[in-house]
Amino acid sequence: MEDCIFCKIVRGEIPSRKVYEDDDILAFHDIRPIAPVHFLIIPKIHIPTLGDAAPGHQLALGKIMTMAGPLARQQGADQGFRAIINSGKVGLQEVYHVHMHIIGGPEPLPPMLVRRRTDRVE
Ligand code: AMP
Ligand code: ZN
Repeated sequence: MEDCIFCKIVRGEIPSRKVYEDDDILAFHDIRPIAPVHFLIIPKIHIPTLGDAAPGHQLALGKIMTMAGPLARQQGADQGFRAIINSGKVGLQEVYHVHMHIIGGPEPLPPMLVRRRTDRVE
């Protein structure tokens, strides 16, 4: 938690372009956006991955889900968006503090995952 980059953003020790903040969650623009709208919503408490979520985290994680739509619309994604939570090694998570990516338009996004030959059931 000391060294966690997103905890440092919560504490104001490193800067972010803030989208929204309340007692439980913080939203800020992704530093390397992949679409015109790309921001992250995080719980203020340190939860490493979505796989570590527990009942005591329901308020913060619920807020993240219910603020996604209003914040996406506020940022200009009024025709829809994609919400992604990468989790753990298989999910290719880079920053180990739970965060939901909100990614959007105006153009439709590419397919989420490319189906591989090995995914086929023969
Ligand atoms: P993930 O692979 O889901 O862990 O993605 C981590 C995301 O955090 C990436 O999209 C990064 O661009 C973003 N990121 C890393 N450091 C910062 C930062 N200081 N401010 C904003 N976004 C960041
Ligand atoms: Zn953290």
